[in-house]
Amino acid sequence: MAGMLYLVPTPIGNLSDISIRCRETLEKADFIAAEDTRVSSKLLNHLGIKKSLISYFEHNKAQKGDVIVQRILAGETCVLVSDAGSPAISDPGEDLVKQCVAAGITVSAIPGPCALVTALSISGQATGRFCFEGFLSTAKKSRKEHLESLINEQRTMIFYEAPHKLLKTLEDMAAVFGGDRPISLCRELTKLYEEVIRTTLQGAVELYNNQPPKGEYVLVVAGAEPEKEVTATAEDAAKHVAQLMEQGFSRKDAVKQVAAELNLPKNVVYDASLEN
Ligand code: SAM
Repeated sequence: MAGMLYLVPTPIGNLSDISIRCRETLEKADFIAAEDTRVSSKLLNHLGIKKSLISYFEHNKAQKGDVIVQRILAGETCVLVSDAGSPAISDPGEDLVKQCVAAGITVSAIPGPCALVTALSISGQATGRFCFEGFLSTAKKSRKEHLESLINEQRTMIFYEAPHKLLKTLEDMAAVFGGDRPISLCRELTKLYEEVIRTTLQGAVELYNNQPPKGEYVLVVAGAEPEKEVTATAEDAAKHVAQLMEQGFSRKDAVKQVAAELNLPKNVVYDASLEN
């Protein structure tokens, strides 16, 4: 009988955030696939768990994915962990899950630490509707295209970013979304120097022009304001028609133009213009 793949989230800064169920799942695994075996060995040592580790990361995932799938199909249970947080979210685990699903393997996730959810919940931004945008590309063109595709996004937007790229990202966001767009910079979550900086994109650019960013960041950016629907009344339309007629338009032409501009039926505008 085939084994299973478990996704086990690991602490994003505070080792006490490992849950009892995560610990038990690690203990019962036949082997653990880890993004960085050195990082995961430290956690396993801390938990007093000894297990065989196999590395699974961006540059060996094609080859190691096949090995892991074969071992699971042969009956072993694998636990996938990333360096920190929930596996398969902005890390290569996504591909292992796809591969296992395609091979008919049962995949189960234990809930736990996840940087984006932790950040969103304390951001002070709207949480009802949000979209996770992961890391922006380092390539200038695709980065710009990514941000431009979000110009009219009304949901709260969440981004991951490395500190050395933060200032450039904030500058690009300010250029595309406008400097007055609110942002919450959630840094060093669950760690000693956890901090949420609630400001605007321009405010954040000024801040980091004066001090270099330090630590890990999740950026929670407010969505675009909904466009205000213009609801013109018949009275507005009549005034507009009168103005055009004063400029020399015939009533018929003025009505036609105003009806089109205000998206009102021509007969409504015409009747209103006669009553004005
Ligand atoms: N899979 C992980 C998750 O979703 O929890 C995230 C992996 S991703 C490779 C790493 C990014 O998560 C970092 O660059 C940073 O943006 C964010 N991150 C991780 N730990 C964090 C922390 N303690 N505080 C703030 N951001 C963190």
